[in-house]
Amino acid sequence: MRVIGVIGYKNSGKTTLIEEILKHSDKKIAVIKHTKEDVELDRVGTDTYRLSNAGAKITVLATDKKTVFFTDRMDLENILSVLSDYNIDFVIIEGFKEGLKRLNIPKIVMLKDKEGNELIDDHTAMIIEDYNYNIDDVLKVIYEKAVVPTMNLNCGHCGYNCKTFVKAVVKDEAKWDDCVLAKGIKIIVDGKIIPAVPFVSKIVGNTIKAMIETLKGVDNPKHIKVEIDVSKLK
Ligand code: SF4
Repeated sequence: MRVIGVIGYKNSGKTTLIEEILKHSDKKIAVIKHTKEDVELDRVGTDTYRLSNAGAKITVLATDKKTVFFTDRMDLENILSVLSDYNIDFVIIEGFKEGLKRLNIPKIVMLKDKEGNELIDDHTAMIIEDYNYNIDDVLKVIYEKAVVPTMNLNCGHCGYNCKTFVKAVVKDEAKWDDCVLAKGIKIIVDGKIIPAVPFVSKIVGNTIKAMIETLKGVDNPKHIKVEIDVSKLK
């Protein structure tokens, strides 16, 4: 799962751009939209409100068409960590200006009537002015510059820290898959991603894959997730 942001002031065309991306891309894309407006979905008196108010940590409203999760406010790190469990190729984040900066996520900056220049920084992968863009160019930027969320691990295996790595990616001096976390193996211990050198990742990944492939019912697996509750091991 790789991420990229789209930022710009109100009416700069962010949502329309994301709509166009979704229409023209054949990838599996999730969208996170940040809004400062108070969107009242879980209104006082509704069943979901009553259940949340009674103490449910998460309330899930399941209809025949949609499933909606109601939970407490989450920061960008936590939202991305939840989405990483879904089989998606890209996450496009609309807004979350500070979160993008904090997590070193590259971005497309939308300018309108010359407003928004101050949003441009070292992590800007593309600048779009007054709705002028070619959608193929936008998709190329997403496919080449979106990165695996590094969460500021700063392990140094790519030869950079996470911040300078993204700077190098947007300048075409590094490739998104130079990051150790893009190698297909993610080791998470107590909710924290642990960076492993590519060599160790490869050994761990290939060993687990070989063991899993011997199990009954497993045929040519594409994605393997193993969770270990250490307290239950004997
Ligand atoms: S390899 Fe990835 S996680 Fe490690 S410093 Fe580079 S960008 Fe950050």
